[in-house]
Amino acid sequence: MEKYLRQIPAVDKILQQEPIEELAAQYSRETIVDIIRRVNEELREEILSGDLSDDFEVSVKRVVKLALDKADEWLSPSLQAVINGTGVVIHTNLGRSLLTEAAQERLVEVAQNYSTLEIDVETGDRGSRYEHVTELLTYLTGAEDSLVVNNNAGAVLLALSTLAEGKEVIISRGQLVEIGGSFRVPDVMKQSGAELIEVGTTNKTHLKDYRAAINEKTGLLLDVHTSNYRIVGFAEQVALEELVELGAENDIPVLNDLGSGTLIDFGQYGFSPEPTVQDNINAGADVVTFSGDKLLGGPQAGIIVGKEEYIQQIKENPLNRALRVDKFTLAALEETLRLYLDSETAVKKVPTLQLLTLDSEVLKDRADRLASKLDELAGLEVEVDPGSSQVGGGAFPNEDLPTFLVKVSVSHLTANEVGNRLRECNPPLFTRIQNEKIIIDPRTIKDEEINTIFSHFSSLVEEA
Ligand SMILES: *Cc1c(COP(=O)(O)O)cnc(C)c1O
Repeated sequence: MEKYLRQIPAVDKILQQEPIEELAAQYSRETIVDIIRRVNEELREEILSGDLSDDFEVSVKRVVKLALDKADEWLSPSLQAVINGTGVVIHTNLGRSLLTEAAQERLVEVAQNYSTLEIDVETGDRGSRYEHVTELLTYLTGAEDSLVVNNNAGAVLLALSTLAEGKEVIISRGQLVEIGGSFRVPDVMKQSGAELIEVGTTNKTHLKDYRAAINEKTGLLLDVHTSNYRIVGFAEQVALEELVELGAENDIPVLNDLGSGTLIDFGQYGFSPEPTVQDNINAGADVVTFSGDKLLGGPQAGIIVGKEEYIQQIKENPLNRALRVDKFTLAALEETLRLYLDSETAVKKVPTLQLLTLDSEVLKDRADRLASKLDELAGLEVEVDPGSSQVGGGAFPNEDLPTFLVKVSVSHLTANEVGNRLRECNPPLFTRIQNEKIIIDPRTIKDEEINTIFSHFSSLVEEA
């Protein structure tokens, strides 16, 4: 151990090596010195851990290599584009929704120029950033007023904290949802300072259960859309309309967390029925919250729509400032919403909607083209089979979207090895694995990515 520790080269010595000198000429010498220090420190820790491989060595060459690797890590983007071959359209870990072209353009415009973010152009007075999307949101949803915050988790927290802090909130036991990334309704409730009152059972909740729980401390009736699961069989939940009626009788507002929240009726595209935001506003919900980047297909955002008296209170909550959206979110959201003025245009131009409604011929054709390209490579076994894609983002959990899957096996590698290598390519390719085969779903890949996927596989085969 002592021997290795003494072998760690001095920082100056490493700085004199040619590749490091080149790097130091391009970037700050101070940064490069820090990188070398860190690398040496990591080596020291590795040595002191005593857990060393048989070929462990400390040399100038090794430290130079480690320093170059670390510099590369610092200098190349960590958040980068990938190819989504999984077929999961709203893939939270891969960035959820892609933005429509108009939104991309507006992002650049707002990034390059000062903007009307918080100014009234007519009077020159201070304006509100939320006004930019209020007209569109209220028109499209039928609500009186709207507010946009950082994400839907924030929207729910803000609404609960405004309308029910120190009060009781009644919710059905069938709706105590957990969404990925540790959003749990009971925890959010605790954070908001409201007290959760659970009623009914997991599978059945009746209106009388809510009614029995109402008292002078009740601040809110909460209806949460069970986005990512369904309770089927001997099951019953209270319709939003009935909850609204009960709320009105007792002068208690109803908050509806719609989760994914869509503005178009997916039923017309063969999906099982899901309430739209308009439906739930129409049903009388006082406040509805939903995500900007799930089925809506916009930027990450939490959208709150509903009755003016409640939205005003929510706006004035100091917590709203902490959940504030930036100009990029608003610019992208505004452009996305504008497309919904004509729902056929939205389905054509909002990538999330477009991918969810892709024609099976388009999918078959893309699958065939990818498969026949990959078939050119020796050592690959490729076939195309009917299969299914997933919506993702906790929406339509039971919906299998018919697609055609490209299934690949590589003669000398296990499916896991291939999957790992494909993720190490540039850009990384994410796939599914099923029955020892790599599965690529054409739904979430672009035509121009077919060649890239081909070259990823050809580099795999060449290595063999
Ligand atoms: C996704 C979801 C959330 C969280 O929304 P984010 O925009 O991810 O913060 C909250 N509630 C429900 C029901 C959801 O489906």
